[in-house]
Amino acid sequence: MKATTKKHIALISVHGDPAIEIGREEAGGQNVYVRQVGEALAQLGWQVDMFSRKVSADQETIVQHNSNCRTIRLTAGPVEFVPRDQGFKHLPEFVNQLIKFQKEAGIKYDLVHTNYWLSGWVGMELKKRQGTKQVHTYHSLGVIKYNTIENIPLVASQRLIVEKEVLETAERIVATSPQEQEHMRSLVSQKGKIDIIPCGTDVQQFGSVEKQAARVILGIAPEAKVVLYVGRFDPRKGIETLVRAMGESKFYESKQLQLIIGGGCTPGNIDGQECDRIAGIVNELGMSECTSFPGCLSREILPAYYAAADVCVVPSHYEPFGLVAIEAMACGTPVVASDVGGLQFTVVNEETGLLVPPQNVPAFNHAIDKILSHPAWQQELGEAAKSRVINKFSWNGVASQLDELYTQLLPQSVRQPALVSK
Ligand code: UDP
Repeated sequence: MKATTKKHIALISVHGDPAIEIGREEAGGQNVYVRQVGEALAQLGWQVDMFSRKVSADQETIVQHNSNCRTIRLTAGPVEFVPRDQGFKHLPEFVNQLIKFQKEAGIKYDLVHTNYWLSGWVGMELKKRQGTKQVHTYHSLGVIKYNTIENIPLVASQRLIVEKEVLETAERIVATSPQEQEHMRSLVSQKGKIDIIPCGTDVQQFGSVEKQAARVILGIAPEAKVVLYVGRFDPRKGIETLVRAMGESKFYESKQLQLIIGGGCTPGNIDGQECDRIAGIVNELGMSECTSFPGCLSREILPAYYAAADVCVVPSHYEPFGLVAIEAMACGTPVVASDVGGLQFTVVNEETGLLVPPQNVPAFNHAIDKILSHPAWQQELGEAAKSRVINKFSWNGVASQLDELYTQLLPQSVRQPALVSK
C-alpha cells in the first residue's frame, strides 16, 4: 500500500506574523505573502509550518489554519512588539527555539523558505547548525531603502552584510519581479542563484463583486468618481503625492471626487504619525468633505473597495512588488502607479493602467484625471488588468512554481513519498 509521506516545509517570517490582522504598521504584504503561499502549498500536499515571533501574551502559540498548515509563534526576546530595526538581537534565541521546537515535535526541516533579511539570517544559522537548505525572498532590499530615507538606522550595515551573504549562500533566491532581480545583481552581488516567481492574489476572492453592487454595499453614489489608496501609512508609500494630486483634480473642483484612503494605524506609532500628517494635508487643502479614512480594511471587505473604485493609486516611492496593484487589477480596476520596481512588472502602461514618475504631483493628477475622464477606456484598462492577473499572478500558479522549486532542492528520499507495504 502506498503511504503518502508529507513533505515538510518551514516558512520563516520573524517579524511578519502570517496569522494577524493586515494593514497596520508591521503587517502588510509580507504577512499576506507568507499566509497565502502557506495555505496554497498545503493544498498541494505540503505540511506547512510558518514561524513568527510572539509579540503579545494574548497570542496563541500555535494557530492551526487547516490540517496541513499552521502558524507557530516562538518566544524570542520580550513578548511585546519590537520594531523590525531592533529585532536583530533576538534572532539567536529565535534560532535556538526553532531547533528546540523541531526536537520536541520530532520534525527536521530539510528546507526553509525565509522572508526578509531578519529571517534570512535565521536561515543561514540553520544551514550552519543543521544543514538546512534555504530559499529566500527579500520583500525589501536595504540598499534601495536606505537611498530613499533620511534617518538611516544603526542596523543598516548589519542588514547589508546579511543581504549579500544570503544572496551568495542560499540554495535559491526568489525575486518577485525582473526589476527586483536586476537590483540584486547590480546593487548586491553577482553571485548566487535567483529565480523569478511573482507574488500572487486570490483571483476568486478579488474579482467576486461587480462595481455597482460594491457601491451599494459601501453606500457610494453610482456617479461618484472614486479614487482609492490601500496600504500602510508610511511616508515612503507616497500618500501625500496622491492627496496633493487630487487637490488639483478637475473632479475635485466639480465636486464629483471621492478619495478613499484605506489602511490602519495606531495612534503614537510611526503609522499613526503619518496618518495624522496626511489628515493635516487633507484639511489644509480643504478636502475633508470628499476624503474618507475607513481604517484597516479586512480581507472580506477589500474586494468591494477595489471594485467600487474607478482608479486605484499606488504612489510608492519604491515598491519591490506591490500586492495592492494586483489585488485592484484582479477586481477589474485600473491602476495608476509609480514607475518603479515591481510596479513596472505588474502594471502595463496604457494597457492595464498608467505608470508615472514617483512623487510627481502633476503627473499623478494628469494620469488619474485622464482615466476618470474616459469611462470607456477606463473599462478597457480594467478588463485587461483583470486578465493579466488571472493569467500571471494567481496564488495557485505561484504556489505551483514554488512547489516545483522546493521539490528540486529537497533530497531524493524526501522528494519521493515512501512506499510502505503492509
Ligand atoms: N491591506 C489590508 N488591509 C488594509 C491595508 C492593506 O489587508 O487596510 C493589505 C493589502 O490588501 C495588501 C497588503 O496589505 O495585501 C499590502 O501589501 P503591499 O505589497 O501592497 O505593501 P507592503 O505592506 O508590503 O509594503
